[in-house]
Amino acid sequence: MPITPLHASAFLFLYFKDKTRIDPLALAVSTTFIDLEPLYYFILGELLDHRIWHGFTLALTLYPILVTGAVYLTEHLLENRLWAIYKWARLNPIKVRYSLQNIYLLSFFGGFSHIFLDMFTHPQMLWVLYPFAYGNPFYRGQAAIIVEATVIVLTLYSLNCWLKDKPLK
Ligand SMILES: [Zn+2]
Repeated sequence: MPITPLHASAFLFLYFKDKTRIDPLALAVSTTFIDLEPLYYFILGELLDHRIWHGFTLALTLYPILVTGAVYLTEHLLENRLWAIYKWARLNPIKVRYSLQNIYLLSFFGGFSHIFLDMFTHPQMLWVLYPFAYGNPFYRGQAAIIVEATVIVLTLYSLNCWLKDKPLK
C-alpha cells in the first residue's frame, strides 16, 4: 500500500454498518500502527523498511495484543476526549468504550488485513512468512494494481458512508 491511512479508510465503512461492535479507534490503530516499522527504518535511512513486523507471525500474535492493550486503556482513560474527537470527526458515535473481545478481534483483523494488502504491493517484504520461509512469494506486479484499485474503491465507499451518516436523534 502506498499510503498508510488507506489501510484504515478502506474498512471504515464497517463502523457505519455496525457502530455497536466496530470500534473506530481499534480499527484505525490496528490497521495503521504497524507502519511505525517502515517509519522507523525510514528515519534511520535504511532502504529495507518492511521487516519482522510486516509478517503474519507477529502481526497475528503479539501485535493484536499490544494494540488491544493500548486501545482499551485509551478508551478508559480518555473517554471524554474520545467523545469530543468522534463528534468533531462527525462519526456520530453511540459509544466510545468497546469490550476487550471486540477490540481484540478488530486488532487481529487489522494486523491481518495490513499484511495481506501489503504483501501484494511490496516486493521487499522478506519476513512475511517468517520463520517458515524467506522472501515474499505473494508479490506479483499485476496483483498490486488490483489491490491498490480495490483499496481506493473501498475508501470511496467508506467516505460515502461517512458523508451520509446521521446522528441517531
Ligand atoms: Zn505496511
